[in-house]
Amino acid sequence: MQFKTLLAPAVIMLAGSVFAQQMDEQYNAWPTYSGDDLELLVDNNGTHFTLWSPKADAAEVLIYNTDRNTPATDTLRMKRSDGGVWRASVPDKLYGKFYTFVVTVGGKRLAETPGIWAKATGTNGERAAIIDFAATNPEGWDTDKGPSTPNITDAVIYEMHHRDFSAHPSSGIVHKGKFLALTEPATKTPQGAATGIEHLKELGVTHVHILPSYDYNSVDESQLQSNQYNWGYDPQNYNTPEGSYSTDPANPLARVREMKEMVKALHDAGIGVVMDVVYNHTAENDGSNFSLTAPGYFYRYRADGSYSDASGCGNETASDRKMMSDFIVNSVKYWAKEYHIDGFRFDLMAIHDIETMNRVAEELKKINPDIIIYGEGWTAGDSPLPVERRALKENVDKMRGVAVFSDDLRDAVKGHYSNAADRGFATGKPGNEETVKIGIVAATAHPQVDYSKGNNSKFPYAGAPTEIINYVSCHDDLTLTDKLAKSMPGSTEAQRQRAARLAQTIVFTSQGTPFLFAGEEMFRNKKGVHNSYKSPDSINAIDWTLKTKNGEQFDYYRELIRLRRNHPAFRMTTADEIARNIVFDKITSPNVISYSIRNNANGDEWKEIKLVFNGSESPFVARIPKGEWTVIARDGKIDADGMGTIKGGSTVVAPTSALILARIR
Ligand code: CA
Repeated sequence: MQFKTLLAPAVIMLAGSVFAQQMDEQYNAWPTYSGDDLELLVDNNGTHFTLWSPKADAAEVLIYNTDRNTPATDTLRMKRSDGGVWRASVPDKLYGKFYTFVVTVGGKRLAETPGIWAKATGTNGERAAIIDFAATNPEGWDTDKGPSTPNITDAVIYEMHHRDFSAHPSSGIVHKGKFLALTEPATKTPQGAATGIEHLKELGVTHVHILPSYDYNSVDESQLQSNQYNWGYDPQNYNTPEGSYSTDPANPLARVREMKEMVKALHDAGIGVVMDVVYNHTAENDGSNFSLTAPGYFYRYRADGSYSDASGCGNETASDRKMMSDFIVNSVKYWAKEYHIDGFRFDLMAIHDIETMNRVAEELKKINPDIIIYGEGWTAGDSPLPVERRALKENVDKMRGVAVFSDDLRDAVKGHYSNAADRGFATGKPGNEETVKIGIVAATAHPQVDYSKGNNSKFPYAGAPTEIINYVSCHDDLTLTDKLAKSMPGSTEAQRQRAARLAQTIVFTSQGTPFLFAGEEMFRNKKGVHNSYKSPDSINAIDWTLKTKNGEQFDYYRELIRLRRNHPAFRMTTADEIARNIVFDKITSPNVISYSIRNNANGDEWKEIKLVFNGSESPFVARIPKGEWTVIARDGKIDADGMGTIKGGSTVVAPTSALILARIR
């Protein structure tokens, strides 16, 4: 290709004297490009490369026959075009070939990069691959569809890591730690209990939320026999699946096809797939694909010109710049369309601006109105992005169709997340009652909830329960099992299991959307390791023999989920309904909450549901209104179909347990 430089703009130096605001202005003045052909397009006229890099002096494409360790077979000099892009084309369809870009900026030839839009790569994501995506679709893909969740509150989310879920020998799964693990039917433990996808069906969750499954940096895909473990919060190629989860990272078709097979198998089981996405930072700084493509543009900086670090991982991206905002929006759209992904969980979402998150929600709902979107409404450090623009928990009502995790309920029920010994409502520590109530009403305004007594939040920040994800544990911090062990010294395992049941009963009966960390339904632990992001399988893998050992625990969780899914009263969609239908009883005893959900709420067949949570170590005598009540949960047992009836009056609620009664007529 003919190479010609039309302009030779000076690189913007990140000098210490340049203020962040001035840098913003400079970056915002860069030309932008909104075409949908960025980086690679194969059509009947050939193969076309289009790289956005406005300040480059030159750009080229290197073509390879293999994914690594071979010299380039061809070099294409790119031509400057409109909107800050460079273009090069060849008349053939280069299926089976690999490519990288090299840009020259400020006279310096930067390292090779697969770009930021590689949709397939070889080993370790070094080179982008040119593949025919039609060849990656499993049988029946055209008609593949996820579950129907008209409202996010209809979802029951199960958060899992591929290795945790299948690596243990007791899983009975062949493709351990792989996407394909979730495609294997009828797998069992040595004791005969269902594992894998059958287990998920038995448990009754509606969505699996998979920890980062785009291509990440930390696991060496050329050394898979060493069983490396990482959560994957170190993004490298955002638009291609992680190679270590495929059976053959060197084969770019395999990772795409196998991830689609996973999605298809889950969809066939009636289960949706939520992807954990980490657009807030990259694994590398100057060496990232963003930096090697358009140096400087995609990040935020401190006043001294150094990378700002709201992620706590060395840098933070700049969603408030047009091309970064577009990148996030187009990337999730791509996953939703190409992989039929049913939802997205945004890591450290408050690093992103509200406007970008609203664009994300608006665009995704056009593709699939049932898509669910939620994220962490906080940052890990300070950011130059003004607080009022951040997608914070406190700003959730400025977003439409985006939910946030409630740390209110989480910390109030089990004790503070970072203080292992701290107890919460379910483990006998008084003073958390009002904050648990904030969780029950999904942080919406309620006449009987006093937000001035909230531990973490002082105002009803959610405008609707559809804005809240309730949980007591996730991959971060101690598992619930380990938290209970550390905060209840001298307790028996049976006592801790009771506390876990009470804690999760509060989560699953609260308004908002419930979220469960994989394996807690079997009382799994991580041997007390709170930050297991690179711990070995011996810490992270779920020991599936626990499903039989802790069979009653599993049965309780399954029944709790069935109760929630059978009863729309737990899934109201507006703050008004909650304020109208939920009535708290005046209780003076510490660690007790008693309330009713009235009026056949949200179309429920049950007229009234009475819930009493006793987190104290003493029995509590509850007063139940007159009439006949069906017992749904009592003294650590639960049956969504009922366990007999009682008459109104006084009834004892055992220590560390939930009482749930239903007035059916
Ligand atoms: Ca990787």
